[in-house]
Amino acid sequence: MQKIPEGLIDSHFHLLSMQKKEIESIKLLEEMKLLSMTGIDVGVDCDDLKERALLTQSYPFIHLSAGIGPWGVGDDNPPIQEQLDTLTSLLDCHTVCAIGEIGLDNYWKYGTKELQEQLFTCQIDIAQERKLPIIIHNREADEQTFQILEQYSFKKRGILHCFQGTQELADLAVKKGFFISFAGNLTYKNNQKIRDILTSVPLDHLLLETDSPYLTPVPMRGKPNTPLNMIHIYEMASSLKAISVESLVLQMQTNFQSFLT
Ligand SMILES: [Zn+2]
Repeated sequence: MQKIPEGLIDSHFHLLSMQKKEIESIKLLEEMKLLSMTGIDVGVDCDDLKERALLTQSYPFIHLSAGIGPWGVGDDNPPIQEQLDTLTSLLDCHTVCAIGEIGLDNYWKYGTKELQEQLFTCQIDIAQERKLPIIIHNREADEQTFQILEQYSFKKRGILHCFQGTQELADLAVKKGFFISFAGNLTYKNNQKIRDILTSVPLDHLLLETDSPYLTPVPMRGKPNTPLNMIHIYEMASSLKAISVESLVLQMQTNFQSFLT
């Protein structure tokens, strides 16, 4: 196995979803600690924060976010207000670095566009009230995401996670001070469009992530993803940006600190 440099940052992963794919969290967290890795375990539902806080309590290098993704308006979910109340009561008891992932998904078409938008903007308001940044999920909803981003003047620098949107959306996000985070699909053969957008994003607006357990990068495809695969995403980004992996490691650390403060 190749030597992984120390201090890589994975801006977006899901420990509980990895557990469901039989990736043992404590073993993984110990390996991340040995490599001086850091990153964000990202929330997906209104009530997952407590379990994740417990799981990571001995690993202070893991930051937590909490939020309800667009799947929250899918069938069989409690009413939006009930979910938001659950989320805010958990936010009152636990420290988070961001609200997310929140956003829009026209690929899976959860609920309706209007309901997704309502859930999204209510949580932007929660983030603004609490002076927290947001982590945005956008799948095939570029125009709607663009319109919502345009309306707000954000108090904190958010993240557009697993970016696969248009150049216009990337440009607006940069203008709004956001970070654009790229995942393992950056390494997929047919994704030249995403590589071109990464090349265009200013280095100080860039973040990288695995979105584990999803989107396993080349050459590890076929297995569930983990943050230990970050190096493959760093290598692709470093070649696209024509800088060394070492410089990119330092730049990502600076950017991540900027996101957290
Ligand atoms: Zn995610």
